[in-house]
Amino acid sequence: MNSGAVLTIDFAALAANYRRIRAQVAPAAVAGVVKADGYGLGAIEVARTLMREGCEHLFVALVGEASALIPALDGPASVYVLNGLLPGQEDECLAAGAIPVLNSLDQAQRWAATAARANRRLPAVVQVDTGMARMGMETWEIDAFLADPTFAERLDLRLVMSHLACGDMPQNPSNAQQYARMSALAERFAGVPVALDNSAGSFLPRGHFAMVRAGIAVYGGAPNDAPNPMAPVVALTIPIAQLRTIPAGAGVGYGLTFHTERETRIATIPMGYADGWPRCLGNTGSVFIAGTRVPIVGRVSMDSITLDVTDIAPEHLYPGAPVEILGPHQSIDDVARDAGTISYEILTQLSRRYHRIHL
Ligand code: PLP
Repeated sequence: MNSGAVLTIDFAALAANYRRIRAQVAPAAVAGVVKADGYGLGAIEVARTLMREGCEHLFVALVGEASALIPALDGPASVYVLNGLLPGQEDECLAAGAIPVLNSLDQAQRWAATAARANRRLPAVVQVDTGMARMGMETWEIDAFLADPTFAERLDLRLVMSHLACGDMPQNPSNAQQYARMSALAERFAGVPVALDNSAGSFLPRGHFAMVRAGIAVYGGAPNDAPNPMAPVVALTIPIAQLRTIPAGAGVGYGLTFHTERETRIATIPMGYADGWPRCLGNTGSVFIAGTRVPIVGRVSMDSITLDVTDIAPEHLYPGAPVEILGPHQSIDDVARDAGTISYEILTQLSRRYHRIHL
């Protein structure tokens, strides 16, 4: 299976991004968020890279992600499961040696019962809801958790955490509200390390508690709307598959949604929405050839995209000629903006059909 597309993943850049975040939040520790297969770049390789930088904490979303990752690590790290425990997942979590993020009193009760059955204290993280209303214990659950001594007996609470709703909008008042709520809760969970910030939060000019959970910035994505200080991690090129010249007044692609106004040179590249390239980039997105912007014309198909290359010098146009999809001229954030989405979605959908090269 080879479309000729080459996805280059620069793990040295990823390591440099990790070091940058660590320097700006010190003395807080920086955990690596490697859920969704390391944002599509390979959880095992990302985790190993971060651990070589001294990272000791890794977050995945699912118990299954933890049980796949932990045996592949080449050293000790704590692996936390952000989505916590669905009923029935306790034994898999225990067997994997993963640490669940207990997002509700119900999850805490089931993990405490697992500890009682296993006849030992089990490590755990508690997530509290400080304002995002997505995951984490509500106030009444926190009260019940702290009031019941069996939790302290059975659970070795390693961290109390929450998540920012608007960290990428530094001026949003909810950031200060969540920070204040977290500070108050830190007192109630006296002695337990606290974590609130994601990548965006690590750029907020205030303290960062004991730990930051960094994802997108480590992967090179912009943490907020300011100019992106992170090093790009991914590059993607693909060869031109074929070329044609069509007259003025012709239509291109499914639905013939693009109409030529002049004689037009069309190049077709062998990737499409099956490769995670958003269909909405049809007649909207761009790629680059020899450093020049080339518009996507017509709809994005499952496995092909058509480009108007009329203005590109002929020496750059031949079957096999390289087309920059992601690289020095176009970042994951540029593509996300054109597609009306976020860089996380572009990254996590990067095709498993691309040939991957690790730098
Ligand atoms: N913490 C939690 C709970 C998350 O859900 C995520 C990612 O979505 C992160 C941390 C990492 O966020 P980011 O990639 O913005 O750094």
